[in-house]
Amino acid sequence: MIATLRQALDDMERGVYDFTKDGKCTGCGECCSNFLPLSDREIKDIKRYIAKHRIKECRRVAPLVKPAEDWLCPFLDGTKPKDKCTIYQVRPQICRAFVCNQPPSKVRVNKELFWRTRKPVDMRQEFFGR
Ligand code: SF4
Ligand code: SF4
Repeated sequence: MIATLRQALDDMERGVYDFTKDGKCTGCGECCSNFLPLSDREIKDIKRYIAKHRIKECRRVAPLVKPAEDWLCPFLDGTKPKDKCTIYQVRPQICRAFVCNQPPSKVRVNKELFWRTRKPVDMRQEFFGR
């Protein structure tokens, strides 16, 4: 219990919650936001990939959640036994670089780097319209 509380306090201090297990990403999708920093190249690659593989928009199953209020990434498929990224092969660099158990300094440096060098993208808007 004390260890759990300590973990929660550490997480709050870092501004990021640690959902890893034994230091590894569990693929829980908790970090998969609808707003990501992407480069033009990444947008192009993802568009090409979703057209080629006919990737459809994933939506939250909750019936009362409207698309405009769905803040999860539209490529997060939560309907399978385990959450899955439907564009895993071409997922953006920010998704490749981030793991929620990283030390605060690394999270901060990455965050600053990606938001400085890429533009903020509303994923649903950019890839599927609203
Ligand atoms: S990095 Fe993201 S998907 Fe992996 S465990 Fe952390 S929150 Fe879950
Ligand atoms: S592109 Fe994939 S890994 Fe990145 S936020 Fe979306 S579902 Fe998660």
